[in-house]
Amino acid sequence: MSELDERLAAVRAGVADAAHTAGRDPAEVTTIVVTKFQPISLIRELAALGVRDIGENRHQEAQAKAAELADLDLRWHFVGQLQSKKARQVRAYAAAIHSVDRESLVDALRSDEASVDCFVQVNLTDDPGRGGAAPDELEALVEKVLGTPGLSLLGLMAVAPLGEPARPAFARVREMSDRVRALAPAARFLSMGMSHDYREAILEGATHLRIGTAITGNRPTAG
Ligand SMILES: *Cc1c(COP(=O)(O)O)cnc(C)c1O
Repeated sequence: MSELDERLAAVRAGVADAAHTAGRDPAEVTTIVVTKFQPISLIRELAALGVRDIGENRHQEAQAKAAELADLDLRWHFVGQLQSKKARQVRAYAAAIHSVDRESLVDALRSDEASVDCFVQVNLTDDPGRGGAAPDELEALVEKVLGTPGLSLLGLMAVAPLGEPARPAFARVREMSDRVRALAPAARFLSMGMSHDYREAILEGATHLRIGTAITGNRPTAG
C-alpha cells in the first residue's frame, strides 16, 4: 500500500466509524478529496484508488486540472470563494459549486443550460472575509437560488470557525438546514467537515465531506 492509499483507507474507515456511531449509513456520506496545490499526478493516483469526487478552491487551477484530466470520469467540486466574473467559466466544468454566498453571484450563475448543483454557504463567524452568507440572510438567498434557472440547490455548506469546538458549530448548520428545508424540501444535503473535524460533521448530519490533507498529505506550497 502506498502512503496515499493508507491515508485514504484510514479516512474511509474513520467515516464509516463515525457514521455507525451516528446511526447513519456510510453510503449516504460523499467524501470529496480537496486537491488544491496538489499535482495532477496525485489526482490520477486518487482516481486509480477509486476516488471520483475532487474539490478545488481556485478557478484557474481547477479549470486547468479539469481540462487535463478530462479522460477520467471525475466530478469537480468548486469549494472556494467565487468571483462573479468567473462564475460562468466555473459552471462549465463543475459538477457542484459549494460557495454560493450572495445574490450577485446567483445572478452571475443564471443560465438556460443544464442546471449545476450548488450549496449556499453560510458564514459561522462575524468576519465577512471568511466567505458565506450571514445566517440572517439565508432565507432570502435561498429564495433567490430557487427562482434562478440553471441552479439546483442541494443544501448548505459551512466551514467550522477557528478556535472553537466544531460540533456545536455544525449543530447550528443543521438547525439552519431545517429552516432551509421549509422553503426547499429537496435541499437536504450538508457540505461540512474537513480533515480535522469530519467526525463531528458526520455526527451532525454532514452528507458531503471536503477532506484535503488527511488524505493527500501536506500541501506542497503555502498559498
Ligand atoms: C482546503 C479546503 C478544505 C480541505 O481542508 P483540509 O484541512 O486540508 O482537509 C475544505 N474546504 C475548503 C473550502 C477548503 O478550502
